[in-house]
Amino acid sequence: LQRLLETLKGQANVTKDGKTIRIYCNIGSPEDVHAVQVNDGGGIGLFRSEFLYLNSKDYPTEDEQFEAYKTVLSDMDGKEVIIRTLDIGADKQIGYFNLPKEDNPAMGMRALRICLTRPEIFRTQLRALFRASAFGKLGIMFPMVTSVWEVREAKRMCEEVKRDLKKEGIPYGEDVQIGIMIETPAAAVCSDRLAKEVDFFSIGTNDLTQYTLACDRQNNDLGRFYDPHHLSVLRLIQMVTENAHKNGIWVGICGELGADLTLTETFLAIGVDELSVTPRSVLPLRNAVRMTDTRETAPRILADLAEDYTAR
Ligand code: PEP
Ligand code: MG
Repeated sequence: LQRLLETLKGQANVTKDGKTIRIYCNIGSPEDVHAVQVNDGGGIGLFRSEFLYLNSKDYPTEDEQFEAYKTVLSDMDGKEVIIRTLDIGADKQIGYFNLPKEDNPAMGMRALRICLTRPEIFRTQLRALFRASAFGKLGIMFPMVTSVWEVREAKRMCEEVKRDLKKEGIPYGEDVQIGIMIETPAAAVCSDRLAKEVDFFSIGTNDLTQYTLACDRQNNDLGRFYDPHHLSVLRLIQMVTENAHKNGIWVGICGELGADLTLTETFLAIGVDELSVTPRSVLPLRNAVRMTDTRETAPRILADLAEDYTAR
């Protein structure tokens, strides 16, 4: 198998009937870029920026962040790199943020909510990101979105940061794509509206499953109740993809589900544009894509997703 996978390096992610899909990687630190290159990832679909904050005793400075982002962008040599803004709270806690103790942290002050409530932290990260954008092909995405107003506010801060950088004579890329994660049912259901605000969607199936099924992703006792294959999750993915495409933007999946080979045919049938997975999953996934003929698989899969079982 390893030999077969080796032969897939440099090959296209194309189905037997000529449909292509981008296979990107999820990384958690600049050191992971090596694994992306070794496994022939097409880009980085999710760079979890939390490591900078987790490995630090205090808020990382703008320059520290800039150096880390710049390293990844330069090392990726012009390939697309999507960096997610700070996603702490809930399952990702950091002491010096002094977040109040919450009874329901998964539904609490987390991710973009913290960034919009404490704009000085957000602004520092955005400045570092835009400065780094001069060194490669950057996309920025915001986690845990539920509403259009949050996206507008985050975008307004991006505009302010760019305006300041321009004033200070600091270069930044002119074509930074702005996207959001779709990982709450609210965002999925309103994805037609949200699609008009951004350049891309990235579906976070770990949280989307948690919130859709009301199942704590950390609670192993829930076992089969935490089911990312649940029809409701798959239908939301389908709906988000359709709303993205109707509005001319692309959509990816960056949750664990993207690497689930039993769903590769489903994601191809739905028409997802990008799957972002751990580097070691790139070649197995490419293999699965290349084995698929959507003319054979898609009709059955789409009928299953749509089927009204009560009519049987
Ligand atoms: C997700 O929720 O699916 C996701 C990719 O983000 P994280 O696992 O970092 O919450
Ligand atoms: Mg998430």
